[in-house]
Amino acid sequence: MIEDSVYVVCPLCGADDYRLRFPATVSPGEEKKIEYYRCTSHHLGRHEDIVQCNRCGMVYNNPQPDPEALLNVYKEVEDPLYREESRARERTFKRSLDQLQRFIKPPGRLLDVGCYTGVFMKVAAAEGWEVEGVELSSWAANIARKTGFEKVYEKPLEQLALPGESFDVITLWDVIEHLSHPAEMLRNVYCLLKPGGVVAFSTHMVDSWAVRFLGTRYPFFMDMHVVHFSRKTTKRMLAQEGYELLKIKSHHRILRTGYFLEKLHHKVRIRPARSVVNWLSRRKWLADRFIGIGLLGLVNIFARKAKSREHRA
Ligand SMILES: [Zn+2]
Repeated sequence: MIEDSVYVVCPLCGADDYRLRFPATVSPGEEKKIEYYRCTSHHLGRHEDIVQCNRCGMVYNNPQPDPEALLNVYKEVEDPLYREESRARERTFKRSLDQLQRFIKPPGRLLDVGCYTGVFMKVAAAEGWEVEGVELSSWAANIARKTGFEKVYEKPLEQLALPGESFDVITLWDVIEHLSHPAEMLRNVYCLLKPGGVVAFSTHMVDSWAVRFLGTRYPFFMDMHVVHFSRKTTKRMLAQEGYELLKIKSHHRILRTGYFLEKLHHKVRIRPARSVVNWLSRRKWLADRFIGIGLLGLVNIFARKAKSREHRA
């Protein structure tokens, strides 16, 4: 359980000048259980106040859990449901990898930060990448190792003594929105990438139609997602940290229908509709099919390490 929330300054420009953008959907001081921090958490759309920086436009949770406390939660988190859904994840990751390989092709060294149980590593290794992973959750890192990946490091990236300029690609799938200091992460990635190397990450876009339509109830506004990028703030962060933006592509997530219906069941408030969703989720012929979820404002971002870095330092 996370006890304390802290007030923070803008994670992109450091200003302490903001306005309320999406009011909290949880009551102040509501208990935050460790289950909320699972990859498959049902705590969608549940969050504290989300604010927007008046100086640079960055959107972020304020207050948010203390970064140290968050780190400890991610170390302890276990998520058996994720394993059951790994076939659907493989399909999602294959699409993301295809997009990535338009900019850089194997062979080469690839580091997957937040590799979880190693599903993306498996997909990338099959294409000829030499893969290594970083994963805080001991439970997930152990599974990745059992899958056959020896090099899975259980420490935050900045604490690993990995040799500089040694990776061709660094990926962060569904990671950046969990970080209190996302720009710092990109700075560390910069040091580890070879000149001309590519960083790829996925996240949700706060300037998407889904956010405009759903507002504060947008499902990816959650306590564990502490920063929310737009196209503008993404470009600013990448330029600031020495990257050249290659492409922002829409991210089409593939889910098992049964999993999707179960998630929907937690969100539907009208009783007859809820019963229908529940009934459908129990139909095996339907539950084991795959569906693609678009239009939720999820994107994959690809950027190249630029030759010179105009960092504010
Ligand atoms: Zn700012």
